[in-house]
Amino acid sequence: MNKEKPVVQKAVHKIKIDLTRCHGHARCLEEAPQVFGYTDKSNQAYVLATANVEANIEAVDVAIAACPECAIGWVDDQHDDSQGGAK
Ligand code: SF4
Repeated sequence: MNKEKPVVQKAVHKIKIDLTRCHGHARCLEEAPQVFGYTDKSNQAYVLATANVEANIEAVDVAIAACPECAIGWVDDQHDDSQGGAK
């Protein structure tokens, strides 16, 4: 009988927005308005503080693919070089 306990890994996904690339196309908002916000002041996107990222991974993937500037990505915690993010 195997007495080893199963290993439970909790995935935590973080989004990065490279603000040097973000030029305000707002396609990320069209694809995932529950995750992304937009500020008219800087014409740039941000991750909503209330965003439930774990529940919207597929929508974020669509937004990543839709961004014409390749400004959005997932944070690799081991190599986090994000310049943007949640506000
Ligand atoms: S993250 Fe991409 S799609 Fe969203 S506003 Fe910036 S450039 Fe546009």
